[in-house]
Amino acid sequence: MTRAFPSGDYPRDLAGYGGDLPHAQWPGGAKVAVQFVVNVEEGGENNVLHGDEASEAFLTEEPTSALRGRRNLNVESQYEYGTRAGFWRLRRLFEERGLPLTVFGIAESLRRNPGLVAAARESEWEIASHSLRWINYAELDPETEREHIERAVRIHTEVCGEAPLGWYTGRNSANTRRLVVEHGGFLYDSDSFSDDLPYWSDVDGTAHLVLPYTLDNNDGRYVNTYGFQSESFSAYLTRALELLLEEGAERPRMMSVGLHLRISGRPGRAADLRRFLDVVAGHPDVWVARRVDIARHWRTVHPAFRWLPGSVDPLAEDTPGDAPADALTGARLRR
Ligand SMILES: [Zn+2]
Repeated sequence: MTRAFPSGDYPRDLAGYGGDLPHAQWPGGAKVAVQFVVNVEEGGENNVLHGDEASEAFLTEEPTSALRGRRNLNVESQYEYGTRAGFWRLRRLFEERGLPLTVFGIAESLRRNPGLVAAARESEWEIASHSLRWINYAELDPETEREHIERAVRIHTEVCGEAPLGWYTGRNSANTRRLVVEHGGFLYDSDSFSDDLPYWSDVDGTAHLVLPYTLDNNDGRYVNTYGFQSESFSAYLTRALELLLEEGAERPRMMSVGLHLRISGRPGRAADLRRFLDVVAGHPDVWVARRVDIARHWRTVHPAFRWLPGSVDPLAEDTPGDAPADALTGARLRR
C-alpha cells in the first residue's frame, strides 16, 4: 500500500495506518486494551497563589470566568474536593476490582499531595507526567515550556522516587512534542487524539512512540458544554467498548478513558463509573493495563525500526541488527 507520510511542506499525517492496521498482539489474545487515566491536577491549576494572573475557570462545576488578580474560593474548593475525597473514592473502586491505571500527574499537584502519591505508588499505579502546571501551554514561549518540562521531571522524580516514563501536556503547544523528545527519557507521549492504536512518529530523526488519548471517553464532558450526565457516561463507554471488541476480533484496538478526581470522584458520577468498571473487570477479551505497559508491549512487538527505518529510537532495547531480515523487508508503512 502507499502511504502519504507527513512531508516538509505539510507536517500532518492524515493517513495513519490507512485502514490496514497492524495486529496489536495484546497479551492473552485480548481484543481491546482498556487504559484508564486518572488526572491529578489539583494544586497545579491557575491561582494567584501560584503566581498566575487570574483564578482557574476550566473544568469547573458551573460556568465560571477567571477572576483577574483575585482568588476564587468556590473554584478552589471544587478542586480541593478532588484530592481530599475524590481520589480516595476512585482508588477504592479500582482497588476492589484489581484494575490498574495511569495517573497523569501535574508536578506541582503531586508535590502538594504526598499522601496521594504514596497511595498511588502503593497501588502500583503508573504516574506519568502531566507537565509542571495545569495551564495552557499553547500560550507559552518554547523557552519557558522547555524549562517547565525540565522542572516537571525534576520535581516528579523527587516526589515519586522515579522519573516519569510517559508524558501528556493536554493543552499543548506546537512545540511540545519536539521539546519532550529533546528532553528524552520518555517511552511515550499522549498528546494526540488521532488513532485507536499507538503509532511511531519521526521527530527530527528521532523515533518517538505516541499513545493517543481521548477527549470523548472523558469525564471532562460532564462539565463542559457537550456534557454527559450520570448514566450517559457509562453508557457511552460501554457502547464504545462493544464496537471496539467487535472490530478487535480482526485487529485489536486500544481504548483510553480519561477521569478527573474532582469530577468522577463525586459520588453520583463514581457510582456511574462503577457500572463501566464492572463491565471491563474480568472481561475475557479485555486487557486492562497501565499506559506504560501498553508502550512497552508496543515497543517490543512493533519496534520503531520496522516502521521508521530512517529514524533512531534512543530507547530501543531491540536493534535492527538483532532482527530477522524478513522483519525489515516485511515492514509496512516504510517511508
Ligand atoms: Zn488533565
